[in-house]
Amino acid sequence: MKKLLILRLLILLVVGASLANLARGWWVNGHATLVEAAASALPDDMPEFFRKAGKALGHFVGDPDRWKNPSAKFLRAGTSADHFLDLEDVEGKDLPSDRYQAIELLQSIKKRPEKVGMLPYAIMENYERLACAFYDFRQDPENEAIRWKCLLHAGVMAHYTTDLCMPLHTTVNYDGMKPRD
Ligand SMILES: [Zn+2]
Repeated sequence: MKKLLILRLLILLVVGASLANLARGWWVNGHATLVEAAASALPDDMPEFFRKAGKALGHFVGDPDRWKNPSAKFLRAGTSADHFLDLEDVEGKDLPSDRYQAIELLQSIKKRPEKVGMLPYAIMENYERLACAFYDFRQDPENEAIRWKCLLHAGVMAHYTTDLCMPLHTTVNYDGMKPRD
């Protein structure tokens, strides 16, 4: 039942993002607008604290862009490939089941993983962080720290699901220039 709720949340986040994307820009404010709209459309069987947390989710959804801060050299280098996947560079191969297998595959076809992107893995890793947080929530639903943990992981996951809704995040032609060799 709870898995269904989380799946429903994912779908709402993606659908909400797709609709809002038609009319809005991107970056932190764009992501925030999308996730606040998605939260407001959640069904009553989602926990109330989560349905009412649009503003908090709207803040957390921007964190992956804040991590691009040039002063945060380790974080920027470690997460910048999480925002995209240049599908042409995957050459039609099935995506492996985790990030490190994907890195191995891309290296085997002479591609640089940090240039191809890791977006599907960022989504699924954060989805599972959120699922673990909701597990804790079910054990201790009044615990304020666990509620905030759910919102943080949901916000970060929503950043990457909303990135996925932007077609320019899935092509080597993201900047309108000729494809790379
Ligand atoms: Zn992004």
